Amino acid sequence: MKRKQPNDVYTLADLRNWSDITHGIKPPIRLAVIGDPVAHSLSPAMQNAALREEQIDLQYTKLHVRAEELEDALALIRENNFVGANVTVPHKQRAFALMDECDRHAADVGVVNTIVVRGQKLIGFNTDGIGFARAIREEFSVDLKDLRILLVGAGGVARAIAFECGKQGCERLVIANRTADRAADLVQQLQKFFVGPKVLGPVSRLQAIGLSDSTLRGQIPHTDLVVNATSLGLEHSDPLPIGGHVLEPHLMIYDTVYSPRRTRLLLAAEQTGARATNGLSMLLHQGARSFEIWFDREASVSAMRVGLQA
Ligand code: NDP
Repeated sequence: MKRKQPNDVYTLADLRNWSDITHGIKPPIRLAVIGDPVAHSLSPAMQNAALREEQIDLQYTKLHVRAEELEDALALIRENNFVGANVTVPHKQRAFALMDECDRHAADVGVVNTIVVRGQKLIGFNTDGIGFARAIREEFSVDLKDLRILLVGAGGVARAIAFECGKQGCERLVIANRTADRAADLVQQLQKFFVGPKVLGPVSRLQAIGLSDSTLRGQIPHTDLVVNATSLGLEHSDPLPIGGHVLEPHLMIYDTVYSPRRTRLLLAAEQTGARATNGLSMLLHQGARSFEIWFDREASVSAMRVGLQA
């Protein structure tokens, strides 16, 4: 008899009836990325490659869950004996509030991207920060501690990146966000990491700014790395997170968005002559760390990389 094929994406309604909906699917689905939108996610390709490589008889899927459905969805992954899940846009901060426990790093950041189901408990972790640091090392052969960074965004991913920059002692961090209060709050929470006088010149080591072109342009001479950690770029119709005419050739540019692979920001950087890369490497390294948390063993980064390219 032909084996039942899994859907590409499941919903909350499917989770409510999980054993019937997934009956006959082998290996059983016990891991997922939860988001809205989620169809673009490459996490299943990458995690399923790692599961096969390690001969773990489970599958990883996508769950399309809206904001108002998140609490029910998390209760249902526990009831349906999931090993765990990843959480993506826009749920990372809300998920933090819904955990029974969090590890120390996730508690500091206030954001969860990785969940472990342990008995009746949901335990939250955050692997985005370490994934980002490893990605920057891989892409640009440089460590965060040696960089002056302009971070655009103050949502879940931006918070994880900002805390990692702080913990690793980056030279300078400027956070630019549409909602100014959010950037200012984040800067407030990061003060403890930026006490020393590390940067030469008339600029602050840590600062929150708005998103206007003139404000951003003033920062560029004091910046090595620009990071887009907004959700702008996921849709073709999105405006650029930072105007192309503000960019300069000396910059490194990291777009956390990876779908489409050549984002509008990457195209703009290319025209300027700046080095730029999309968020696939961060996806890879945060995913490898999530795998290690779920299974308490090293993930095959090479198998995951091949899965991402398939
Ligand atoms: P959040 O919803 O938590 O945050 C979204 C951020 O984008 C906020 O700073 C928000 O600003 C900003 N934003 C949204 N719309 C606009 C707009 N129209 N103009 C200006 N700013 C805007 O999302 P996440 O932090 O979870 O995700 C952010 C990005 O990270 C996503 O694009 C996602 O694709 C990417 N990502 C990459 C991963 C990787 O491994 N490479 C992993 C997970 C996510 P405001 O505060 O004003 O609302």
